Amino acid sequence: MSKEFLKTKIGLEIHVQLATKSKMFCGCDNNAEGKEPNSMVCPVCMGLPGSLPVANKQAVLFTLKTGIVLNCKISKISKFDRKHYFYPDLPKGYQISQYDEPFCVGGYVDVTDGRINLTRIHLEEDAGKLTHSNGSSLVDLNRAGTPLMEIVSDPDITSPKQAGEFLRKLQKIVRDVARVSEASMEKGHLRCDANISVSDDKGVMSQIVELKNINSFRFVEKALEIEEARLKDEYPNWPEDGKKVTRGYDSKKNTTFVQRTKEEAADYRYFPEPDLPPFDTSCFDLESLRQDIGSSEEDVIAELLKIGITETDSVVLANDLNKLLFFRKISDFYEDNAYVARAVVHNYLGFSIVEDDYVLSAEYAQGLKKLKEGAITKSLLAEIAVLIHDKKCTYQAALEMKGGGVVNDEAELGSMIDLILEKFPAEVLSYKSGKTQLLGFFMGQVMREAKGKADPKAVNRMVLDKLK
Ligand code: ZN
Ligand code: MN
Repeated sequence: MSKEFLKTKIGLEIHVQLATKSKMFCGCDNNAEGKEPNSMVCPVCMGLPGSLPVANKQAVLFTLKTGIVLNCKISKISKFDRKHYFYPDLPKGYQISQYDEPFCVGGYVDVTDGRINLTRIHLEEDAGKLTHSNGSSLVDLNRAGTPLMEIVSDPDITSPKQAGEFLRKLQKIVRDVARVSEASMEKGHLRCDANISVSDDKGVMSQIVELKNINSFRFVEKALEIEEARLKDEYPNWPEDGKKVTRGYDSKKNTTFVQRTKEEAADYRYFPEPDLPPFDTSCFDLESLRQDIGSSEEDVIAELLKIGITETDSVVLANDLNKLLFFRKISDFYEDNAYVARAVVHNYLGFSIVEDDYVLSAEYAQGLKKLKEGAITKSLLAEIAVLIHDKKCTYQAALEMKGGGVVNDEAELGSMIDLILEKFPAEVLSYKSGKTQLLGFFMGQVMREAKGKADPKAVNRMVLDKLK
C-alpha cells in the first residue's frame, strides 16, 4: 500500500563547539586535543563545591554573532539556567544551559526547496567524556565546560535528504561566515540530535523519535531514513501515548535501536543559575559583530586587496577576527591602510589588542603614525602602547611618561656621535681603511648612548658624514 499521504516532520538540534581560547565558565584551555586526560581542568570545570563560574565573553559574542548571521532576534535580556541530571561525566549534577531566555530566538536557513525556521540558539557547557573498557568506565573531564552553542530548528524539515542539506549549510555558516567554530564533525565539534515524526492526512501523529548524538551527515540521513520507513510501516498501529522515544543509530549494522524514554523539561528541574547574573545584550557592541559578517573569507580578502593591503597581510587579517576588527578600528584614524595592516599583522604594538582597547584606537593610530615618521623607535612604540593600554591614557601622555620622543636635534646628536668616535679611535681607523661594515657598530654605540631614543635615520646620515 502506498503511504503517500503520510507526511514526515523533522527537527534538528545541533551542538556546535565554539572555538574560544578558554572554556565556558573558567580559564582552562578550550583545546584539549591530544592532551593527557584530566590535565585541562580546574575546580570550576571539575564541579568542586564552592567554585564559581564566570561567563566567557567571547563565547557569548560568538553566539550573538551566529544569531545575527542566521537572522535571529537577539534577546535583550538573557540568562543561564541549571539543567539537572545525573551522569558520571557531569560532576556538578547539573549542566549550565539556558531555558526560557536564550540569547537568540527565531531565525531561518534557506535550503533548495524551502525555508527551515529556527526556534532558538542558546549557549551551554559540555560534559566530560566516558570511556568504557574491560568492564570499567573512565572519566575524562578535559571536555567538561567546553562552550557549546545549541541551534534548534522548528520541525520544518520534510525529508531526511533535506535534513542533510540543512546541516551542511549550517556547518558552512558557522565555520566560514560567522567563523565561530572549526565545525569538524569528525572531531565532534558538530553533533546532531534529530527528531522525527510522521502524521497522516487527518493529523494523527506517530511517536516522536529522537535520534541522539549522530556524528556524520551521512549517518544522520541514514538514521532518519530508517526511522521514516519504520514509522510509515507501523501505520496505523502507532502507540497512543505519543511519548518521545530515544533511539540510537548503529552505523556498522545500519540500524536503529531503543535507548530510553525521554525526560520532559520538568524532569530537569530547571532554575536560574544563581551564580551568574542575567545579561543585558545591549551592552555588547552588536554593530561591530554585524560589520564583520555577511562576507566569506574570500570576500574579506578581496575587500582588503582593494584598499591596498598586500595579499599576505590580507590573508592573515581575514583569518583572525581580532586582528581584522582592530585593523578596521585603527584605519579609521590613520588612512595608510597597507601600513596599518602590516603593523597589526606584525604586532608593532608589541601585544595583542582586544575589544576593550577599541576606544583607544585613535591613540594607537597616533603611535603608528609617529613610528612611520621616524619620530619614535619601534621599541619605544611598544612601551608606549603598553602604557596606553594599562593606563587608558592618550598617546601624548604615554610619550611624556617615557621621557619624550626621539632625539633628532642635530647639535645634540652631533655631540653624541663625536663622543663615540673619540672613544673608538682604532675602529675609526679601520673603517677609514675600508672596513665599512663597522658602520653598524657605530650606530649601535650611538643608539645606546641615546638610550634608544635617537632617530636612526638622522644618526645614520650624520655618522656617515663624520667618517668621510
Ligand atoms: Zn576549568
Ligand atoms: Mn544541549
